[in-house]
Amino acid sequence: MQHTCQALIIHCIDFRFGKAIKKYLEDQGLLGDIDIISVAGGVKNIVGPNEPSDAEFLMKQIETSKTLHDIKQVILMNHTDCGAYGGRKAFNSNGEEREKHFSDLKDAETRILEKFPELEVKKVLAILTHENDIRFEELG
Ligand SMILES: [Zn+2]
Repeated sequence: MQHTCQALIIHCIDFRFGKAIKKYLEDQGLLGDIDIISVAGGVKNIVGPNEPSDAEFLMKQIETSKTLHDIKQVILMNHTDCGAYGGRKAFNSNGEEREKHFSDLKDAETRILEKFPELEVKKVLAILTHENDIRFEELG
């Protein structure tokens, strides 16, 4: 039996974002129609992995999702105050933290498109606010 889905998302394991990510996917009409990869640090594993094999593993997962489920889109999602990046305290300002994630997301997009030019890539930053709300910023 052929079974396909629209997209694949790569996001961090951080439990604080779980409910919000589910709601985000629901709002996008993607919940139940998307493969999910959850790895500590999100795209850090592609652009600045602790081990080169971490990046290879993720690229293979994307390929498998494409082969098995014929995905058209990859959503790359990083988040603020990410432990794998040293948390919020690793940055001098929110702006600096945001810039680092934007730059890593763009870098990851480039690497994915080099290998899978037919895929559409969407870049999202999940931002933990001071009120502990989560909002999603999509990058153009
Ligand atoms: Zn994280």
